[in-house]
Amino acid sequence: MQYIDTHTHLNLAAFKDDYDEVTTKTLAEGVWMINVGTQYDTSVFAVELLNRYEMGVYATVGLHPHHTTKSFFDANELTEDKKTSADTGEVFDAKIYKELAQHPKVVAIGECGLDYFHDIEDDAWKKQVEAFEAQIAFANEVGKPLMLHLRNGARGSAYRDAYAILKRDSKVLGNAHFFAGSLEEAKLFWEMGYSTSFTGVITFAHQYDEIVVQAPDGLIHAETDAPYVAPIPFRGKRNEPIHVRDLRCDTVKLLRASMGMRMRMGEKRIHAPLFSSFFLHPAVAGRTRNFINSLLRTRYSYTRSTSIM
Ligand SMILES: [Zn+2]
Ligand SMILES: [Zn+2]
Repeated sequence: MQYIDTHTHLNLAAFKDDYDEVTTKTLAEGVWMINVGTQYDTSVFAVELLNRYEMGVYATVGLHPHHTTKSFFDANELTEDKKTSADTGEVFDAKIYKELAQHPKVVAIGECGLDYFHDIEDDAWKKQVEAFEAQIAFANEVGKPLMLHLRNGARGSAYRDAYAILKRDSKVLGNAHFFAGSLEEAKLFWEMGYSTSFTGVITFAHQYDEIVVQAPDGLIHAETDAPYVAPIPFRGKRNEPIHVRDLRCDTVKLLRASMGMRMRMGEKRIHAPLFSSFFLHPAVAGRTRNFINSLLRTRYSYTRSTSIM
C-alpha cells in the first residue's frame, strides 16, 4: 500500500453497478480506502464491503448532518428506493449503530457534524447539534475517533461551533474532512490534535495553500470524497479513490499534503500519518491502544504473508 484515501464513498449509489470492479482495481494499484457512512443504510453497506476484501478496505459509520432532517435527494448518494429517508431524516440511534461500530475495521464514527451551507432553520439546526452530540458520546463510548463533516454558511462558522462542542464533550480524536475553513479555524482543530484533510479542490483552488503549508506533520491527509470533486485533470467526471494519487501535485506545498498520505509497506511509518492522529488520544489511550495493536498485528501479518507493493 502506498496511499490511503481517508474519505471515500464506494458505498454510495454512484458506484452501485461497479463498486467491486473499482475496489479491486484501486487495491491492485496500491491505494487503500476508508468508505464513509452517511446514514444508517449507507453505513451498513460500508460495513458489508469490509468482509469482501482481505485487506485495504476500512469503514466509518454515522449520520451526516444533512440527514438529520428532510434533505435534498442526491442520486449520487442514495438509490431511488432510499428516497424516503431523504424526506424524513434520521434520529441517531446508538443501539443500531453499535453493532456496526464494533467491527474491527470500522475506524471512525461519522461523517457527523454541522453543515451551515444551506440556510437552516432553528429546529433543523438543533437536530444537527443533537445528532452531533449523540455521535460524540457514542465515539467516546466505543473508543473510536470522529470523522467530521463541517461546513460554514449562513449560520456562521460550523468549525467554531463544532470546536466548542468537541472541546466540552469529546474524549477522542478526529479528522475534519474536506477542510474548507480559514487558517484560524484549522488551528483550533490542530490544537485539539484533530487532523484536517483536503480534497481535489486543492488542485484547482488556491485559498487553502497556506493551510496546507502550515498543517503540522501527521495532522494532514489527502482524500477524494469520491464520487464528488474529482481533481484536475478529471474535473466533471465521477471521482474515484485512485485519484488520491493525483492530489500529489506540482507544487511543493501540495506535494507535502500527499506525502502525509504516503505509507509504504514494511516501514514503521506506514501507519503514522493516518492512525496516529486518529487514535492516540490520552483520554482513551489504554482502551484504544489495544485496538490499534490488534489492528497493526493484523496488518503486519498481511505484510508478511503477501506482497502488494
Ligand atoms: Zn462530508
Ligand atoms: Zn463524504
